[in-house]
Amino acid sequence: MSTIVQKYGGTSVGSVERIEHVADRIIKTVNEGNRVVVVVSAMGKSTDELVSLARQITEEPSKREMDMLLTTGEQVTIALLAMALHKRGKKATSLTGWQAGMGTEATHGSARITDIKTERILSLLEENHIVIVAGFQGKTANNEITTLGRGGSDTTAVALAAALKADRCDIYTDVTGVFTTDPRYVKTARKLQSISYDEMLEMANLGAGVLHPRAVEFAKNYQVPLMVASSMTEEIGTIIEEDVTVEQNLLIRGIAFENDVTKVTVAGLPNKIDTLPKLFTLLSNNNINVDIIIQNQYDEKSVNISFSMTQSSLKETLSILKGAQAELGFSDLFHEDELAKVSIIGSGMVSNPGVAAKMFDVLATNEIFIKMVSTSEIKVSVVVAEEDMVLAVEMLHKAFQLEEAETPVNVG
Ligand code: ADP
Ligand code: ASP
Ligand code: MG
Repeated sequence: MSTIVQKYGGTSVGSVERIEHVADRIIKTVNEGNRVVVVVSAMGKSTDELVSLARQITEEPSKREMDMLLTTGEQVTIALLAMALHKRGKKATSLTGWQAGMGTEATHGSARITDIKTERILSLLEENHIVIVAGFQGKTANNEITTLGRGGSDTTAVALAAALKADRCDIYTDVTGVFTTDPRYVKTARKLQSISYDEMLEMANLGAGVLHPRAVEFAKNYQVPLMVASSMTEEIGTIIEEDVTVEQNLLIRGIAFENDVTKVTVAGLPNKIDTLPKLFTLLSNNNINVDIIIQNQYDEKSVNISFSMTQSSLKETLSILKGAQAELGFSDLFHEDELAKVSIIGSGMVSNPGVAAKMFDVLATNEIFIKMVSTSEIKVSVVVAEEDMVLAVEMLHKAFQLEEAETPVNVG
């Protein structure tokens, strides 16, 4: 008998009708002779609604209380789904994250899973129960309730699949799989049959919201067979696995993008050995995450450092830097708002310098200015004006022939 973990996201459980539909799908899997553990998200946009309720009271809610609030969303869904299964004559038990044994670090709002005590789930499965676990939540060693970060139910599902040594983890969502880029923005986006863990990890980290990055990390580390598919159709989804044989000649597998990027430039820093460590230690001591970093030396004595970061960290960063101007010894501080990061991803680009050149050429031809660049073995990211983001994605999608990409693409 196989053990299968299925995860249903917010839209898939967004109404009573959808929850009933999910119950029918689960029963179909059970009737095929499988043991099923189900992970669900909060219904529809209810997590956003809870966030907005908190914001109506205070701009800076306590992180602990935010976790207490947000975890209620998933608890609604697990109970309703259990009821829908009971109505259909099935044995089913809902469990909150802590009841399911989901142990996490004590970082409210973005806790990492540290351990999973699977005894309760295993004994329920033994008694032929369908086990329904609330996604996105866990508990610390001190019995505090935590959340795993927005979109974290994917991670609950994959981590459970790893802990239970499940045969499969299926992520059911509102699209039929992982696409070459977000199909909501680019109509010609094409569903991929498969993608490697590494490529998916880059896609997720670089803004493709279809999977939570930590879910992909778990899947890779524990070799969990993962599939992303639609909860509305029977169509086979995208398989995420170690070695992708289909389409593996393709240089570019997908394009990811995100907005809300800003660029900060610290100008006229002393050209000294300890300048970089001093600057970035200051930022990291204040828990500020920076992304792309560029250093320019403009004369013997001075350097400029630019870095990108999310818009939400900008205000704090500028005030920290201004406070440390004398200590750091810089002359000016600039920033640029309303930027976006567009990234092309594909393991086929390893040792293919032509890919970056082609990307830059496509953007230049469309009069899109590149403000920053960063590369790894399997991706090239550029920072552009936010207003150019969708055009950049569309043009790159076309230039790299992603809508039709069953055959290798020539670079140059
Ligand atoms: P769920 O609530 O099921 O977790 P999400 O909204 O978190 O669903 O993720 C699904 C959404 O991810 C899709 O509706 C789509 O707009 C977006 N998305 C972004 N990038 C991609 C991509 N490359 N492939 C598929 N979907 C993507
Ligand atoms: N409900 C949470 C969110 O909206 C977790 C999830 O859906 O994965 O972020
Ligand atoms: Mg999601």
